[in-house]
Amino acid sequence: MSLPDWTGKPPAGSLPQGESLEAEVGIIGAGIHGAALARELSLRRVTCALVDRAAVAGGTSQWSSQLLHGGIRYLVTGDIRQMREGLEERAIWARIAARRCRWEAFWMPHHNIFEGWAHRFGIGLYDRWGSERPGFPAEFRLGAVPQVVFRADPRSQGGPFRGATAYADLITSDRDLTLDLAASSSALKLDFHEVQSWEEQGGGLRAALLKDRRDGRQRTLAARQWVFALGPWTDGALRDWFREDSRRLRLSSGIHLWFPAVPGCDRPWAIRRPGGRVLFMIPREGRLMVGTTEREVETGWVPIAASERAELFEALERYVPGVRWRSLQVLDEELGVRPLVRGSGFTASLSREAVLERHGRLGNLRLVLGGKLTTARRLMDKLAVELTGRACPRSRTEPLQAWDAA
Ligand SMILES: Cc1cc2nc3c(=O)[nH]c(=O)nc-3n(C[C@H](O)[C@H](O)[C@H](O)COP(=O)(O)OP(=O)(O)OC[C@H]3O[C@@H](n4cnc5c(N)ncnc54)[C@H](O)[C@@H]3O)c2cc1C
Repeated sequence: MSLPDWTGKPPAGSLPQGESLEAEVGIIGAGIHGAALARELSLRRVTCALVDRAAVAGGTSQWSSQLLHGGIRYLVTGDIRQMREGLEERAIWARIAARRCRWEAFWMPHHNIFEGWAHRFGIGLYDRWGSERPGFPAEFRLGAVPQVVFRADPRSQGGPFRGATAYADLITSDRDLTLDLAASSSALKLDFHEVQSWEEQGGGLRAALLKDRRDGRQRTLAARQWVFALGPWTDGALRDWFREDSRRLRLSSGIHLWFPAVPGCDRPWAIRRPGGRVLFMIPREGRLMVGTTEREVETGWVPIAASERAELFEALERYVPGVRWRSLQVLDEELGVRPLVRGSGFTASLSREAVLERHGRLGNLRLVLGGKLTTARRLMDKLAVELTGRACPRSRTEPLQAWDAA
């Protein structure tokens, strides 16, 4: 089977591991969920193997908006429980992954004084519930943005907005965070390994036959328990491996465009759009990242559609006409596919909730469905308790190891 481009070319060389490998838990998929589970199991001294057909963090967990947040959109959709969970997790990330996190004061602009009051009320609650903010810079001002400051930002020129309210959130580097989680585990790492077939035994999975894409070597990995953390590729893998037709996920692509830094655009903006969607404009690494869109797609990675690009440009021109977007060079563009737990309605209103499913036929297999970067640690802590019967409070306090530490 030829692989789509996103998996990338495997590095040269070969791994030292032998042909017959064993672990207590076999994790297939090394995105934020697989990597976070590997850390949870290692903290509990349970052996595990982390298998991916691409690099660690080679999938969705490198194409997100990179926010560790309560989800300001939930103020509109009313999912307060998810919001509070996210805010709690945000504080934990700020402690355990301080070097990968940066606090920011986001501006949410409003059209008129009434909307301004509504924002101030909602954002007031958001910042109160999220008042645990370790390392929050004292110079950041939250709440009403003074008019003179708002007017100095070129994004306020000629547009529909009359003012803004500032709220706190945490920005990360999704790929580095995932790599740090994997580096904080003692998992046997089998990146660029393709699953060729499965061996079943006694109503469960016994072993996976793997092919190392570096050199074509075959390895057998046996494990007592298995977890598939395959993000948006879950349904496709279950179909290919076990001929299962049921669809557990709905997939929604989102794109980001990266522009050169625009002078005067110093703070990130979060513009509320109809349907609870948010248009983010985030200055980072000397550039301006803009996103995102929602388009239903069929698989875990697809090329960017011209209509997605056009939709973002239209939104930018409508809400922020003070910047000549079309004359700016697009330095980079990326697409990620959200794995949303299947339900009815449009993707924009679908839940970002995650589900841990015990597979119906294969008794020792669990599936991680849906989820977000923000709540991955919490969800995998829960799964590790289910798998091992052991709680581990250190998961909330133990700092992550940097994958790129000297
Ligand atoms: C546009 C966009 C913006 C987002 N913004 C945010 C945000 O700001 N904050 C937030 O908290 N969340 C955000 N999310 C959600 C978050 O990025 C995802 O929910 C999360 O990254 C999913 O992680 P995962 O580990 O489940 O999946 P992935 O990261 O996709 O991991 C799955 C892994 O499985 C591997 N794989 C696939 N098929 C196979 C196979 N057959 N064999 C072996 N391995 C395989 C892939 O290579 C991949 O590495 C966003 C998502 C998108 C798309």
